[in-house]
Amino acid sequence: MAFLHRRPPDPLELIIWENIAYLANDKRRAEAFAILKRTIGTHPDQILAAQHSALAAIGKAGILPDVSAEKLLNIARIAYEEFDSDLRSALNKPLPQAKKALKRFPSIGDPGAEKILLFTRSYPVMALDSNGLRVLCRVGIAEEQKNYSATYRWVQYAIRGQLPKDYDSLIRAHQLLRHHGQELCKRSKPCCTECPVRDSCNYGRKEVFGRD
Ligand code: SF4
Repeated sequence: MAFLHRRPPDPLELIIWENIAYLANDKRRAEAFAILKRTIGTHPDQILAAQHSALAAIGKAGILPDVSAEKLLNIARIAYEEFDSDLRSALNKPLPQAKKALKRFPSIGDPGAEKILLFTRSYPVMALDSNGLRVLCRVGIAEEQKNYSATYRWVQYAIRGQLPKDYDSLIRAHQLLRHHGQELCKRSKPCCTECPVRDSCNYGRKEVFGRD
């Protein structure tokens, strides 16, 4: 997300980013987002005034473009009706309330809400995407639980108290773990023989050296 390197992004734009093109990679998502900004805009009024077909055309960067268009309209509706088109004041509330506000939107659960709180520099939380979560489980920070939510909570519990407090370090950690999960520690067939942390990774030690 190129715009994450500039001033803290608008939380609504981060929600739109998550929903604009289902299952698109970062490059295609960025292209779709740029087209939305250029041709329609990201303000709720602008999205609500747009044709469904125009939003779906942008959503073709991913699969299920009609579903993506519906999600964008839903996001704009919620932002307009419940937050007066500006989420920033909602993020100034205590953490549980700020998370609850963000989870009103499509595709935003605890991990997505924490990512938005981190990237908008509202709360210094260690947001993890699915890549980062997988890396930390394989390394041995915590064991996978019966479902994704439980694993996410368990990993968060395991790393509490060991984290830096500043936003820059937490954002960097999020990005590095994500990148590592995408490039080497892939869901299937992780590249453990090429991995620089294999000696200190539970999964990697078994995979490369055949030992616990
Ligand atoms: S050694 Fe393998 S499992 Fe461990 S972090 Fe590296 S790629 Fe992932």
